[in-house]
Amino acid sequence: MTNVPTPLLLANVGQLLTLRSRTPRPRRGASLSELGISEDAAVLCIGGKIVSVGKTKDALRDAWIKKHRRQITEIDCRGRVVLPGFVDSHTHPVFTQPRLIDFEKRIAGASYEEIAEAGGGIRSSIDGVRKANKPALSEKVLATFRDMAAHGTTTVEAKSGYGLDFASEIKSLEAMRSTARQWPGTVVPTFLGAHTVPPEYRDRRQAYLDLVCNEMMPAVAKRKLAQFADVFCDRGAFSADEAGQILRAAREHKLALRAHLGQLSETRLEPFLRFNPVSLDHMDYVNDADLPALARSDTVATLVPGANYFLGLSRYPRARQFIEAGVAVALATDYNPGSSPTLSMPMAMSLACTHMKMSPAEAIAAATINGAWALRLADRKGSIEPGKDADLAVFEVKDYREIAYWFGVNHCVLTILNGVVQGAFCA
Ligand SMILES: [Zn+2]
Repeated sequence: MTNVPTPLLLANVGQLLTLRSRTPRPRRGASLSELGISEDAAVLCIGGKIVSVGKTKDALRDAWIKKHRRQITEIDCRGRVVLPGFVDSHTHPVFTQPRLIDFEKRIAGASYEEIAEAGGGIRSSIDGVRKANKPALSEKVLATFRDMAAHGTTTVEAKSGYGLDFASEIKSLEAMRSTARQWPGTVVPTFLGAHTVPPEYRDRRQAYLDLVCNEMMPAVAKRKLAQFADVFCDRGAFSADEAGQILRAAREHKLALRAHLGQLSETRLEPFLRFNPVSLDHMDYVNDADLPALARSDTVATLVPGANYFLGLSRYPRARQFIEAGVAVALATDYNPGSSPTLSMPMAMSLACTHMKMSPAEAIAAATINGAWALRLADRKGSIEPGKDADLAVFEVKDYREIAYWFGVNHCVLTILNGVVQGAFCA
């Protein structure tokens, strides 16, 4: 497969979900439902960018297109739905093995914490990453990104966080960098050295925090291995005070900030919002009194219902309260071996509809344009508008609501990543 974009004309699009915005802001409240649908549409992409968006009949009459017809690859969409490629703004792809023992133990009734205490959980992933060599990690991550693209994802935020020592965290981020060069989609790397305290530091938590802040973070920043720093703040991970140390160090090193918050227990948001994080993720347990401040901020709440589903929880993030309070909400897979082994954004959207009562339209906007806002990429990603990157997904459905409706199957038949086509369908 070549990664060089060719001029493309997508024609006869049944429903083109442009997600065009009137104002350059994350979608909140009623605007989360505005998909900017155009019927019988066409999209012209050149050099990896979207050049024009209009009606098929006008595109076919266009003098420039007529003149250059031979150089343009025409994709007849035959009434299918086309939308912006999904922006999966929360994933942990650098691991080596599925956690099947945890899976069985949890089914048999053990809790997340009991599995961790028995030596399972994240520790098995840490052992795997520490032992793996960089090319093997890179190969594994590339296979994951290709699978994601096959499900319509064109931009992925990807975290380290299963190395948890200096060499293995750097190795994880370097493996991602090398993968990013081979994959035509867009990768946003995040340093998550503060995922949990590794076993060898269990009785020396502050020493591990010092290692992350004073050694790993400067090296990551100096070598430009990550755009974001993240911290897992929760029961069993880092306290709010400890997370504050991580975020302060990240800010000093000019890394943009995001945090895992409120997955297992409530943490008040005010100390976090002071850091102006780009996104706060999970947010299952949030104090209602904190919602107005979150809504006033530029911070996106990234909800990851795949984790609730896989852990068999009855409680899901309260998306409706968030949306009604004016919070900007994004959806992501949280792809990881312990709590959310899915790379399917349509699955995350289906769960958002059935368990969080988001409408299919809201789920699409949360998985595209608001995902782009959650990565500070909204100027390039998340909508189909002239000047934006040519990231599109073609679905074998007639109505966009079917994307979240048919769960457990993949109806994505073609993905365009920065102008490069992956997949094929019979026209
Ligand atoms: Zn996560």
